[in-house]
Amino acid sequence: MIKTEKVLHLKSSRGHKVRVVREHYLREHVPCYSALCQAGCQNEGKVLSGDATHYVVPDAGVVRDFLEVFEFRELQGVVFTQTACQAAQHSRGRRHYNRLRSLLKDPRQDCILFANEFQQYSYQPREKGESQEKWQTRCVYHAAVWYYNHLAGMKPVVMITEDGEAIAEYSSLNGGVYVISTQEYLQSFWPDLQAAQELYSSISQALQERESEGTEKEYAEHLPAEILEAGIKSGRYIQGTLNVNKHKAQHEAFVRFEGTTNKNTELNSDVLICGVKHRNRAVHGDLVAVELLLRNEWKGRTIALTDGQGEERAGEESQSQPMPTGRVVGILQRNWRDYVVTFPPREEVQSQGRNSQRILVIPWDYRIPKIRISTQQAEALQDHRVIVRLDSWESTSLYPNGHCVRVLGKAGELETEIQTILVENCISVPSFSEAQLREMPVNSSEQPWQMEPSEVASRLDLRDTHLVFSIDPKGCEDVDDTLSVRVLPGGTRLELGVHIADVTHFVKEGSLTDLEARSRATTYYLADRRYDMLPSVLSADLCSLLGGVDRYAMSVLWELDMQSLAVCKVWYGRTLIRSSYQLHYELAQSLLNGEQAEVPELAHLDAGERDRKLAELLQALETLTRVARHLRAQRDKGGALELEGVEVRAQLDDSKNITALVPKQPLEVHETVAECMIYANHWVARKIQGTFPHQALLRHHPPPRQEFFNQLIDSAKARGFTVDIRSNKALADSLDRAVDPRDPEVNRLLRMMATQAMSNALYFSTGSCSEEQYYHYGLALDRYTHFTSPIRRYADIIVHRLLLTAIRAETEEEPSKALASNKELQELAQQINTKNRAAQQAQKQSTELFQCLYFKDKDPQKDERCVADAIVYAIRANGMLVFVPRYGLKGAVYLKNRDNLVINVKQDGSCDWQTGSLQRYPDRISSCTGSDTHTFNLFDHITVRISVEPSRCHTDSLCLELISNRPHQAPGPRTPPAGQGRAELVQEVVRLAEEASLQAEEVKGRRPKLSKEEREFRQSRGPNLYSLLQEISELALLDPSACQALETEAQVCATSA
Ligand SMILES: [Zn+2]
Repeated sequence: MIKTEKVLHLKSSRGHKVRVVREHYLREHVPCYSALCQAGCQNEGKVLSGDATHYVVPDAGVVRDFLEVFEFRELQGVVFTQTACQAAQHSRGRRHYNRLRSLLKDPRQDCILFANEFQQYSYQPREKGESQEKWQTRCVYHAAVWYYNHLAGMKPVVMITEDGEAIAEYSSLNGGVYVISTQEYLQSFWPDLQAAQELYSSISQALQERESEGTEKEYAEHLPAEILEAGIKSGRYIQGTLNVNKHKAQHEAFVRFEGTTNKNTELNSDVLICGVKHRNRAVHGDLVAVELLLRNEWKGRTIALTDGQGEERAGEESQSQPMPTGRVVGILQRNWRDYVVTFPPREEVQSQGRNSQRILVIPWDYRIPKIRISTQQAEALQDHRVIVRLDSWESTSLYPNGHCVRVLGKAGELETEIQTILVENCISVPSFSEAQLREMPVNSSEQPWQMEPSEVASRLDLRDTHLVFSIDPKGCEDVDDTLSVRVLPGGTRLELGVHIADVTHFVKEGSLTDLEARSRATTYYLADRRYDMLPSVLSADLCSLLGGVDRYAMSVLWELDMQSLAVCKVWYGRTLIRSSYQLHYELAQSLLNGEQAEVPELAHLDAGERDRKLAELLQALETLTRVARHLRAQRDKGGALELEGVEVRAQLDDSKNITALVPKQPLEVHETVAECMIYANHWVARKIQGTFPHQALLRHHPPPRQEFFNQLIDSAKARGFTVDIRSNKALADSLDRAVDPRDPEVNRLLRMMATQAMSNALYFSTGSCSEEQYYHYGLALDRYTHFTSPIRRYADIIVHRLLLTAIRAETEEEPSKALASNKELQELAQQINTKNRAAQQAQKQSTELFQCLYFKDKDPQKDERCVADAIVYAIRANGMLVFVPRYGLKGAVYLKNRDNLVINVKQDGSCDWQTGSLQRYPDRISSCTGSDTHTFNLFDHITVRISVEPSRCHTDSLCLELISNRPHQAPGPRTPPAGQGRAELVQEVVRLAEEASLQAEEVKGRRPKLSKEEREFRQSRGPNLYSLLQEISELALLDPSACQALETEAQVCATSA
């Protein structure tokens, strides 16, 4: 080892230049991390693949400015030098550095870090008078040469740099080591990777533009980090996340303060930030430091109708009491993401400033300010949606600067809009890569999958001893749970079994499939498609517990007392099963009801054998029902809630297409299956929490905040019902009683409101909460987790691994070692929670998109489908919120329009606009015109007309217009059952979109919009209907608009079949 000195010129956070001399040790052996290494390097962990055609070494400037280009997974064999990484870290800061680090860590990205400055033959000391940049470029070049020689010339090495002099100087110095510009590199090595070239030119244009920036200050300077830090400590500044009011994006934002560091005790609310000057370049989501204004400058927040998108039109505006108001003095952390924007129309582009290359684009998300980008494509990108990233926001610039990353397509087209929703929710679901698919087991007719003898030996074999069966909706392909029940020898005990797909056998921790599943966290269900968490060879085949085939499972077996059904013993472990029956709900229920029903598995048997087997199956189903009733009764005693949930049923035709969604005939067998799954989840939670008191992944549902129930209580009172919210049991009981025999929608709406008032159920690590906080309010269980759906939820995969570790610890008598620390597990839990929220949000937005697309081409004045019955569920100052059962949509109905006219109801119930006034009460609203007064009450049925309010840069929205104060009577045959309209809606929109793209193809002679890649990208096959329904009761707890979520879920089934 050689000791030397290294001189660094650093900038302090105050901006002073500091010269630092560090001791620097050089070694002969520094790992090269190449799979091709012949020199015996200690290459532990990730290595560069050997099959890249060349290795590429970007210099410091390229890593600083064009790092994003290397995020394309197609680029292989990338060597990041220590020199380049350190330089980038110093010049671009933490966010950029984190980006680089995650690139290096991600095994799906073929790149490594080479510590060139520790390698004694590649290290280059800086020469006197040499500029820092020149020195860095020289270091990187010598690293490239070293790399080439180290691999004995097996791979050409390409160094890329933006420095023309370096290209001239080095390009012909060493054979095998090429020095070219980034642009030339992309063009000659990756000619097909158009997107990378476009990204490159968009970034480089943005860089050029930035050099010619003005100097006039638009905003106050941000305070330096150490002043902010000290100020937050002393209580002078408040730290929190900026939250822009979507309905008043220009004017109103709030900062929710975080942590306990805040010493300002009188402050127990959000801080209001008025206007963009006081927001001082903070963007929605940024972590900021805020200084409070003097009390006499405080303002009140606007009380507008802000419950839903349909309500963006402001009502009578009024301000609340003045609240703490402040201004942003510094930014602690930028939380910028990718934004979808729309280019302004042609007229505007031409008038925007003297420099026509700079364009102000408008983000899809109302909360994000306009972004200035430099591009020559403004003309070409008219009416397109484009992904943009922010680069900087200087105090001299009214708007932030950014650059284009990728074009999504024409605004208004289905595929573009769906991709927009995914990007806006940070959902990334590329097709599974080749490398990932190579990890998958093979199961083909030539090479059928078989169980391994070692697995057969180590697992409990239930194939000959247990009658295992599944109960799912008709047409279900991915069966992730099965059941068994039997009387144990002796006759005093029962054994109940829940057997779940053993996904973790196939998905090894840290594998590419595992990492991809982890980053997705869940399967995503949109209105017309789904994106799977796992490749289909697992989800629909080897992990699917199909009938008549051998499968690996994870089982929980309970020994229950025959009479009392008390648990005597629980066994957890890996098993082998072969399911005997794949039943569907209706069939199982018919058998239980003693009705004539054909079981396909028994069809080929002779009568005697068939009767014997049927009796055996029936016996099992009956026992299961008895056990489930008992379990449910136990939870009911504890106060389990039945919320607006399992109410819609998918109706399928012979080819497994769903023809309609009809209000569910409540089948007891649904509840029976659900109850067994809840039981398994509960007992697994007990087991893993017992073994890992501080490192287990559980799921809790915090009790709701009482004040959120006010609307529910008031609304129920309007109909003469009392809702008791003192406990979950009281709430459940009072909701059960709140039934209006004349109108079933009333109970449905009350349950919907109860669901809205609930908190979300969330995953957490047991070390980060006290034990009282483990409680699951909705299910009335002291501990709960997710174990039963590992095919489509990553949390279940973690729980399976925890359970296995707990079992192993027991049998091998070694101290149990947790999978992850509490901190790591809590971070993971939060990541999954975030992804779940994104999944719900995307689902909701895609449903709204379909609703708009459906109504867009219909004439609201003529088309019968645009007129529907609606029920009032809330009263607002200038209107009311209604629910439209036929389409499952919610929205605002205004009783006062923009011209300040109010609604007038005529003799026949029809409405027009007249001068007058509105009078609002808690349970009703009256409109007074001249001598007439008309009152609308909560739960009134009215008739609305549905139309679309188009928007160029954002989403279209639906408008509901009151046309009669009477219930809507559909002409012709009776109104279709609730939900059916929605299934029809999605089908029609999909059909229209495909027709449109075919037409476009014919007209322009282009390839279809839905390319092969895009079709693969969709990945949709038939979703697992059972698990959807099973999840519904929990979704109801999760989602603020449960009703909608429910119907979307079911609707998913309806269209992807
Ligand atoms: Zn090596």
